[in-house]
Amino acid sequence: MSLRDFLSEMDRKGEVLHVEDELSPRFEISAVIKEFDGGPILYFHRVSGHDMPVVAGVCASRGRICDALKVDMQTLYTRLLEACDRPLKPKVVSDGPAMEVSEQPRLGRLPILMHYEGDAGPYITSAIVSARSPDGEVENVSIHRLQLLDDRHLAIRIVPRHLYQLWLMAKERGKDLDVAISIGLHPAVSIAASAPAPFGVSEYGVANRLLNGELSLVECEEVDARAPAEAELILEARISTSKLVDEGPLVDATGTHDIVRKQPLVEVLRIHRRESPIYQALLPGGREHWLLMGLPKEAAIWRAVRHVAPGVKAVCLTPGGCGWLHAVISLEKQTEGDAKNALLAALAAHPSLKHAVAVDTDIDIYDPNEVEWAIATRFQADRDLIVIRGARGSTLDPSADQETGTTTKLGIDATKPLTKPEQSFKRAEIPRTEKIERIINKLLGLKHR
Ligand code: MN
Repeated sequence: MSLRDFLSEMDRKGEVLHVEDELSPRFEISAVIKEFDGGPILYFHRVSGHDMPVVAGVCASRGRICDALKVDMQTLYTRLLEACDRPLKPKVVSDGPAMEVSEQPRLGRLPILMHYEGDAGPYITSAIVSARSPDGEVENVSIHRLQLLDDRHLAIRIVPRHLYQLWLMAKERGKDLDVAISIGLHPAVSIAASAPAPFGVSEYGVANRLLNGELSLVECEEVDARAPAEAELILEARISTSKLVDEGPLVDATGTHDIVRKQPLVEVLRIHRRESPIYQALLPGGREHWLLMGLPKEAAIWRAVRHVAPGVKAVCLTPGGCGWLHAVISLEKQTEGDAKNALLAALAAHPSLKHAVAVDTDIDIYDPNEVEWAIATRFQADRDLIVIRGARGSTLDPSADQETGTTTKLGIDATKPLTKPEQSFKRAEIPRTEKIERIINKLLGLKHR
């Protein structure tokens, strides 16, 4: 299962917008991606100075992610969590489409996008990075932003999570960390790479479970790492454990520039690619970025909340909260206090979560006006507000302490109290007869003409 397979499937559904005008990878392509954010997949056929097309926005809508995993919204979380709990070992093949051409690295030939004014340079933002522990026992696959430095070098941002642990293990042994950097992937692989699998579980196994056993991997030639055999491009590389360079600034999930940090240097040793590869781009701070980061976290929050409040129905990391910092939780309260426990569980389950709102199931959590209405009519700050100071939060939030990563967390219980008559919290309805439905539909039709 490849990016190409998914693109043709989406092309048949009319979900791909083909752009034939020649555009520059410097700001021009990102401007178009931004304009169509959350809309169709964009296929840029002509890129100035490059002979490689660019595809963007592959996972930019919830619907498309469901299509890729062949699930509906209701089963998305369970499917994702099941894949994390029951990973399936992918088969390893000796050759694959990704290995059609093998060459010396010339990263400048890739149409790596310069996204925003003020960014430090062009960035690879859609790549998965896979690495193994020195004893080969643990493999990890995750998505990292990679800043282009020159034809052979990148800077990688590694937050203290799983890849960082492997990097530390290599560093303790005085070695650099071998990695495979893969670009141009089926959505299931990208989603698995950001899945809430614990350390020790290879996200390749998660991807393979999501793909019902259809993922195959190839072993790299010069480094000890594996990559999807059907990727568009594979970069064999080594992350230095001694050489750090300035990384950033780059616009991240919040749409603001992240700070400059000393981060490891990456040396690219070899590039494998298809005969005519497609370069996959992803706009930082866009819907796709939020969904890839956020969906697995929604699933993790859903699972954690379910343990303390079994009535949880859905979780949404909201677009207004950068798909990362704010959650709305829909729940059927069984006892008074359920919502507060749910909020505490949610704030702990996703460390970057800053504000969480719990609402009853009559509220549409994807509609910010409905959520605000619930706060307006069901919330009292003196009894329904939870404030936790100095908790671990997101370093992406410019209002937080970006050096220590601590933040103040807040929970809003906007569910109706069980002790008060339900009627007073109910939104009044206007009865609609068949006749009215018919006339309204006719008027709507007129309006659209
Ligand atoms: Mn992991």
